[in-house]
Amino acid sequence: MTNLTELQRVLDGIVAAAARISDRGEVADYIPELSAADPAMFGIAVSLASGEVLAAGDARTAFSIQSISKVFTLAMALGRLGDGLWRRVGREPSGLAFNSILQLEQENGRPRNPFVNAGAIVVTDAILAASEPREVLAELLRFVREAAEDGDIHINKEVARSEAGTGHRNRALAHMLKAQGNLHNTPDRVLGTYFHQCALEMSCVQLARAGRFLIGGREAALIAPYNVRRINALMMTCGHYDGSGDFAYRVGLPAKSGVGGGILAVAPRRASIAVWSPGLNAHGNSKLGTMAAEMLADRMGWSVFS
Ligand code: GLN
Repeated sequence: MTNLTELQRVLDGIVAAAARISDRGEVADYIPELSAADPAMFGIAVSLASGEVLAAGDARTAFSIQSISKVFTLAMALGRLGDGLWRRVGREPSGLAFNSILQLEQENGRPRNPFVNAGAIVVTDAILAASEPREVLAELLRFVREAAEDGDIHINKEVARSEAGTGHRNRALAHMLKAQGNLHNTPDRVLGTYFHQCALEMSCVQLARAGRFLIGGREAALIAPYNVRRINALMMTCGHYDGSGDFAYRVGLPAKSGVGGGILAVAPRRASIAVWSPGLNAHGNSKLGTMAAEMLADRMGWSVFS
């Protein structure tokens, strides 16, 4: 059993430590709407397997979850397609930036994993197979609202529009995938859906609650237990792109980052953790968010590597 008083003290200590740090990384500006984020914001929330939610800092302020949405669309795709998905996307770390184009041509249009942009675009294409974009987005919203048990989770259309205006690398990836026969829908249709999924907004409290389906060992699971295991494995090996090895080394937990500065981490059987600080490191992962996850895992003894 987790000692709640101790956990709250640890969370408050992390917020205090973060407040003392002035070098907070760079806020993403390639999506114009994201550049307005305040680098001073910092929130952390933990949703325990036992049901309690503890939080500290700006944990109730909504932010753009961006690539963390790829965890939810992967869960949907695995539920719908099962192993058939792996014919179109791999399960290996890429060793390259999240938006790299290089590997895709070299490897004949099969993205390395579902968390790099090319792989996530294929996953979104796969769940669009028998549905309209608005149906897929409605299903995604249903999924996260049910997972978080919170109906007040929304997609920020301004952020989606902002990325649609500047998302030239993603457009290049989608067209390359189409040229190589690994996109069934038109690039515009897939990207329109992808930009909207990335524009989902949640607070740390909502995100920590939405991540509970990955803790495992729950009776009323949203997804099959073997998919919980598999998604966690992919988060550990690929969730931080070319920073995944470093994150595993420092934190020792499966986790997924987003360029909005959020990180969703899972302490299997114990807790789902969300942390948010908009400043990013060189790999596009939250700088203080990584530090916070490291402090939390260390102080609570939660690393899966003990
Ligand atoms: N929407 C962003 C993009 O495609 C997501 C990237 C991220 O969060 N790493 O560039």
